[in-house]
Amino acid sequence: MGEDTTNHRKHIAIVGGGLVGSLNACFMAKRGYKVSLYELRKDMRKEEHVKGRSINLALSERGLSTLDAVGLRERVIPYGIPMYARMIHNKDGTKKRIPYGKSHQFIMSVDRRKLNELLLSESEAHSNVELHFQHKLKKCSFTEKPKTVFEKPNGELVEETFDVVFGNDGAYSAVRSQLMKTTRFDFQQSFIPHGYMELSILPNSKGDFAMEANCLHIWPREEFMMIALPNLDKSFTTTLFMPFDIFESIHNKEDLIDFFEKTFPDSIPLIGKQELIATFLSRKALPLVSVKCKPYNKDGKAVIMGDAAHAMVPFYGQGMNAGFEDCLVLEQFLNEYNDDFDEALDKYSQYRHVDAVSICDLAMYNYIEMRSLVNSKFFLMRKALDNLLNRIFPNTWIPLYTTVSFSQLRYHKCIENKKWQDQLLNTILKTIGAMSVVGLGYLVWTQRTNLIVLLQEQGFM
Ligand code: FAD
Repeated sequence: MGEDTTNHRKHIAIVGGGLVGSLNACFMAKRGYKVSLYELRKDMRKEEHVKGRSINLALSERGLSTLDAVGLRERVIPYGIPMYARMIHNKDGTKKRIPYGKSHQFIMSVDRRKLNELLLSESEAHSNVELHFQHKLKKCSFTEKPKTVFEKPNGELVEETFDVVFGNDGAYSAVRSQLMKTTRFDFQQSFIPHGYMELSILPNSKGDFAMEANCLHIWPREEFMMIALPNLDKSFTTTLFMPFDIFESIHNKEDLIDFFEKTFPDSIPLIGKQELIATFLSRKALPLVSVKCKPYNKDGKAVIMGDAAHAMVPFYGQGMNAGFEDCLVLEQFLNEYNDDFDEALDKYSQYRHVDAVSICDLAMYNYIEMRSLVNSKFFLMRKALDNLLNRIFPNTWIPLYTTVSFSQLRYHKCIENKKWQDQLLNTILKTIGAMSVVGLGYLVWTQRTNLIVLLQEQGFM
């Protein structure tokens, strides 16, 4: 690639070669920096099996727009399956399709591994990027010339100095731990009582998708839920989210089948009884963590992005999308401050924090919406009303899900937008209520003679 040969001004370390780190390397390479990326794990492109979280993810507009900025949107699209609606699976086997937005709007189910591999290869294609696998960050300091110490699998320690260190090392970030020691750092971490376990729905006997392919399937059961996202090989990755104590109460295959027959009966033939037993009983449920912290930077020397800065529960499908968007937002500040990292990182941290906190909160809110509200009549009425108002006032009435998943409106503005809509709807409903009371009063007064006769006939007077 030609654009990266002229401007090797600063030497950047990127710690973590996951989704955000590998994309960030593409952004930094395009700016002309010398980029060294260090990843704890082996190079997944050379591995047969890769252990890790969620096999597939929902990619939405923020993620796609960020990929666009480095010319990768079109490269990623072939790895995805569009999902236009939620498909709700009721206990009695009936299903209900709830569109996400307008008929052309979708979120995309993408394979985590394929996406990560593509991003690693894209970053490596730049002559100013080098990738180091099996390098674990052990220590770092953010002095005038930041120092890092990485450990290789044989115990050998590698010391390096850089101009800037990026912490793209996930929810349990080592770079963040170091920031904590060097700045007045606020940190909040919470685990929800639910864990998750991945199961699988294989293609049917004809080799086709066993359920509607272009939907995100949900089995909402109030206290817990199961979801399924389609894969390119026509299977579905199925994720069960449930309180740990329920996971732990299932000890053997009888408990398991009894539980599934009572709660997710239509899923048993789809997953397959034997496969369900084999998978469930050989796996452990994994925890879900939410992290809020600030600031994200130490002067112009270090910055954390992605899950390292704002890990969230996965119920809005925005963790990766928000992490990708971090890269785009930082790019804008680096442009605005002419690559002055002191200014750009300070401003980035202040600007981004309010949005990261908002999406962490929204993800927690959707945790309830997905498992219980989708069953409620009020929720479905509100959704229908939102869609109707959006059709009548397309530029002013934009539903929350649409602003989060199909736009790049700042996350905190999405919340503000929902608040004024709620206030307006409440006022309208109260006004309708008050008008009904007045109308009823008028009716009673004008019909009082008939009413008295009626009540006397019924023996009330
Ligand atoms: P990670 O993906 O965690 O990558 C961090 C990398 O850093 C890893 O490769 C790790 O090996 C490396 N590393 C860690 N420590 C060190 C060290 N000391 N030295 C060197 N390297 C290190 N998001 C969505 O947008 N849509 C979804 O549908 C979605 N679904 C999800 C479903 C589940 C069940 C879960 C758990 C998450 C989901 N997410 C989703 C969130 C998404 O997975 C994360 O937000 C995303 O992976 C964050 O990327 P990251 O690069 O910041 O962190």
